[in-house]
Amino acid sequence: MRTDKLDRIKYFLEKHQENIRSCRMCPRACGVDRAKELGECGEGFDPRISSANLHYGEEPPISGTSGSGTIFFTGCNLHCLYCQNFPISQLHRATKTLGTESLADTMLALQKRGAHNINFVTPSHYVYQAVAALGAAVEKGLTIPVVYNTSGYDSLPVIRDLEGIVDIYLPDMKYVFDDIAVEYSCAPDYPRINRSVLLEMYRQTGLEIDADDAGIAKRGLIIRHLVIPGNVENSKEVLKWIAENLSPDIHLALMSQYFPADRAANHPVIGRRLTQEEYDEVIGYADGLGFENGWFQELEAHGGC
Ligand code: SF4
Repeated sequence: MRTDKLDRIKYFLEKHQENIRSCRMCPRACGVDRAKELGECGEGFDPRISSANLHYGEEPPISGTSGSGTIFFTGCNLHCLYCQNFPISQLHRATKTLGTESLADTMLALQKRGAHNINFVTPSHYVYQAVAALGAAVEKGLTIPVVYNTSGYDSLPVIRDLEGIVDIYLPDMKYVFDDIAVEYSCAPDYPRINRSVLLEMYRQTGLEIDADDAGIAKRGLIIRHLVIPGNVENSKEVLKWIAENLSPDIHLALMSQYFPADRAANHPVIGRRLTQEEYDEVIGYADGLGFENGWFQELEAHGGC
């Protein structure tokens, strides 16, 4: 198993050498040398992180009892108006810049602290560097599964080549409508790209979550969808696409935690929180499609803003 993973990592790094020199690691395909200039993700070559810690707020098979070993990369290849993590993704607030060996040591330290997995958060623009560091970590004894926790705006060839390297995919499915992908995330091809990578992730993992006796995931796919106010139809179409093209038995995390962060604060449609009626309508639709596996977040009471 370890040898298989190392072989896949070697193959990945060789195959994508050119794509990182003239960066085409994500669908933006900027073609820049990130050691010298920044592409659309706004990040250079050496990975910058905002934190590396045990996290208990992921889905139960990911956080378990001991926590998920999250490594939050700064920057992002999407530019969501409402990004719920905008200080990290758009203000690029980093605490450290890491090389291959120090990122590997960060993973090993998380494993030593009892993390159930290494959870790369927003990794799409640092995937090459993360895989290189993973190789070094596996050489030094990293054995826990790897989670790829992504917006779902990834390069399809990259995702294909992550087979045998990533154990658990945790992608978003944000939109099916091109117009809101443009308006909210500046990514007109998000729906097309996102659908293609979800199909590939599903091909690799299948439907079931392979878990240990304590219910901690070792391999699988969980799709996340954040319900955005004023966009119930988008949420319904997301659910419909998943049910028709993957399966209603997929593990689905439906999230209601949206708040009008950053540039969304004064937006006429998304400059408010989700209402209970909107969320109930989406949950009812999911129930009607037969979704039973996964987690539907409760809508928390909040003030009238
Ligand atoms: S990872 Fe960054 S520089 Fe590379 S293609 Fe994507 S947005 Fe551009």
